[in-house]
Parts: sequence; structure tokens; C-alpha cells
Amino acid sequence: MDLFHDNPLFTGIRQMLGAFAKQQMRTIAMKHDAEESMPWGLMKSAQALGLTQSALLDGRKKLTGVDEDPDPKKPKSQARLAVAASEELAWGCAGIALALGGSGLACSPVARMGTDEQKAEFKKLLSGTDEHGHIRVAAMALSEPATGSDISGLKTTARPDGDHWIIRGSKQWITNGQSANVYVVWAQTEASAGRAGVRGFIVARGTPGLIPGKKETKLGIRASETAQVHFEDVRVHKDMMLGAAAAAAGDATSGGLADTKKMLDSTRPVVGSQAVGIARAAYEFLLERVQSTSLHGTPMASHQHIMFELAEMNMEIAASRLLAHKAAWMADHHMENVLESSAAKAHGARTAQYVTTRAMVLLGEEALEPGHPVEKWYRDAKIYDIFEGTGQIQRRIIAKHLTGQNPT
Ligand SMILES: Cc1cc2nc3c(=O)[nH]c(=O)nc-3n(C[C@H](O)[C@H](O)[C@H](O)COP(=O)(O)OP(=O)(O)OC[C@H]3O[C@@H](n4cnc5c(N)ncnc54)[C@H](O)[C@@H]3O)c2cc1C
Repeated sequence: MDLFHDNPLFTGIRQMLGAFAKQQMRTIAMKHDAEESMPWGLMKSAQALGLTQSALLDGRKKLTGVDEDPDPKKPKSQARLAVAASEELAWGCAGIALALGGSGLACSPVARMGTDEQKAEFKKLLSGTDEHGHIRVAAMALSEPATGSDISGLKTTARPDGDHWIIRGSKQWITNGQSANVYVVWAQTEASAGRAGVRGFIVARGTPGLIPGKKETKLGIRASETAQVHFEDVRVHKDMMLGAAAAAAGDATSGGLADTKKMLDSTRPVVGSQAVGIARAAYEFLLERVQSTSLHGTPMASHQHIMFELAEMNMEIAASRLLAHKAAWMADHHMENVLESSAAKAHGARTAQYVTTRAMVLLGEEALEPGHPVEKWYRDAKIYDIFEGTGQIQRRIIAKHLTGQNPT
């Protein structure tokens, strides 16, 4: 049972995506992990379920069949739907879940800061298939070789040139970085303005100077592509700068880095929920084993140290899930949730690493075999302490919030 158990909308989504995760994701998870390949076929077929690459811009109707209440004052359900869906999909395979939802990282700032024209252009670039017959995906390029956590130190620049901006710099660790058909790239437009000068730009694949770089080999979530992207004097029309309308209206703080950080507040509970999905997968594997197997001639379930481990895992998973649900509930009720979002992300990441590590220990050497599901979940868990703000950065945000300091 959880905070969503009495809401048919969320329980329906969980049931539908839980079945999808079991039947369609688990069955191909090991193959894509071993090959480090994107599940293009599944990404295409999943669109029929409403798991589109532009889901954040499409609204919830595609996934649930129900429209969001247009009254801005009324509670929404988008954030809770996202965490409910994320846990199920990551339970199936975190790497595939990221392949299914990775474009959402780029959709998020467009949905938050884009004009109607920018949204339409972005959706157009995300629709249809590419020359390989793959569905089109998007990338959000913020991190750089020397700038991950401290995004105010971006080295990528955008300088004005008539009706255009010229973007120059390199980005690193970018999800969908090699295959994306459209990028949201963040660049410094005015060094003296510091954080307020950082702006996002929508850039289409094929724009001269945009060069997708080396694909990374990773420990986990290997079905999701991560790559460098280079911008060598890429010319972008000024209409493709996010937040320009707010800046023109005199709101210098809107559309810049502050909005980028708000964007992360909305994605962190989702990332925390994905971590819960990995933890639950490993816990369920172990639980089944404990209920069906003996250790040294007596049932595993009669060994107190194993039973205590199961109890600890169960408590941690429930606590992480509730933190994610709380942060999402607050977002849907238009409440500030900076602390709760960071707590959901940090706690979920810790739980995923804790549960998978202990499951490896309790299963012993069988779990060291490549291709063993617990070995995969153990590798997949680590990234949750790194991307979308490391564990240290989340704790810094929480502590600053607790002590009345500006958490950004
Ligand atoms: C698989 C994957 C996918 C990713 N996808 C994307 C993407 O799509 N788009 C994108 O823009 N980025 C993406 N990233 C980048 C990711 O967001 C960064 O890796 C992350 O923000 C950490 O930055 P860094 O690796 O440069 O580490 P650093 O910032 O260099 O940090 C190194 C260490 O120092 C610690 N540290 C840093 N600052 C502080 C501080 N103030 N106080 C205490 N400790 C601190 C960190 O916690 C960490 O332990 C992705 C990364 C990975 C691995």
C-alpha cells in the first residue's frame, strides 16, 4: 500500500505499466545491457501506450485517456503519474526506462519556458522517424567536461550575431547525445551576468557545426545512450532561445539558470522513483529466493540475519517511495517542494544502492555472474547517486533549506 492506493488513475497506470515492464522490458533487458544498445523497437511500439518521447508536451491524455483539469488553481496529477509510472518502468529495466523517457529531460524546459511556436517546432522535430527508421529523440545538453554539479560555471558560450546566436562549446554525459534529432543546449550569453546570463536554445540535428561526439561506455543503465556533443559556432535563430519573451518583458531572472534548477525540482522525484523500482526488483528477487530455498540445510527464512535484512530493505523501499510520492503530491498541489524533491532523489538513490549491494552479498557468488539480474541492478543503481545532482548536491540543497539559506 502507498499514498496512491485509493486512486484508480494511479493504480490503473501502475497495473498497465507493471505488466508492460514484466512482459516487454524484462524480456529484452539483458540483451540491451550486454550490447549497450538502445531498444529502438520497443521505443516505437511503446508509443501506442502513450509512452511518447514528447509525453511531457502532449499532456497526460495519451497515457491515461483523461484530460488534465485546465484550471491552473486545481490540483494536477502529472507529477504523481510520473513517479507512479517511473517506479514500474525502472522495475522492468532502468536503462530501457531511460531510453523510453530520456527525451523528457529536453521536453521539460521547453514545456516550462517555451513559447507556443517553440513548442510546436520542438514537437515537429521530435515526430516521425529518422533515416534508420528509429523514432526521433531529444537531448538536454547542460553538463560539460569541467562543469557538472556547478552549472553556473558553464564554458559554452552564445554570442549575438544579428538575428542569430552563435553557440560554441562542448557538452559531456548527454543522454541521447549521439542520436538526438533535437537538442536543448545551455550556454552563457553574457559572462558578466553570471547565472542570469545562462540560456537554453533549441537546436535541430543537422545544423552546421553541431557534432555528436563519442558515445560513453557505462557501468549501468547501458540501454540508454550517453555521449558528448560539440557545438562549433552553431548558428541558431534568436526565436529558438528559451525564455526570451520573459527577458524582453523585463523579467531578467526568468528563462535562465533559475528556471533550469526549477526544472530539476520536477524531475528529481521521478529519478528517486526509478531508484525505488530498481531496489524493489532486487528485493523481490531476494524475497522469492528466501521463501523457496535452504541455506546450510535449513530454510533461508529460518535464518534471523536474513530475515532482518529483508525487513530493513522493505522499510527503506517504503520510505523512499513515500518521499517520492510526497514530493510529487506537493508539486501537483502547487506547493514548493525543493527540499522534498532532493530528499526523494537522495533517499531513493541510497536505497537502490543499499538493497542491491545487500542482495549481492546474501546471494553470494551466483550474483557475481555477468547476466545475473541482481548483478545488473547493482550496476544500474550507482548512477542514481550521480545524475540529476549527486548525493552530495542533494544533501547540500536540503541542509541549506533547513538553515534558511538560498538552496540554489
Ligand atoms: C548516465 C549519465 C547520464 C547523464 N545525462 C545527462 C544529460 O542528459 N544532460 C546533462 O546535461 N547531463 C547529464 N549527465 C551529467 C550529470 O548530470 C553529471 O555527471 C552530474 O551533474 C555530476 O557532475 P560531474 O560528473 O561533473 O561531477 P562533479 O560536479 O565534478 O562532482 C564530482 C564530485 O564532487 C562532489 N561535489 C561537487 N560539488 C560539490 C559541492 N558543492 N559540495 C560537496 N560535494 C560536491 C560531487 O558530489 C561528486 O562526488 C549525465 C551523467 C551520467 C553519468
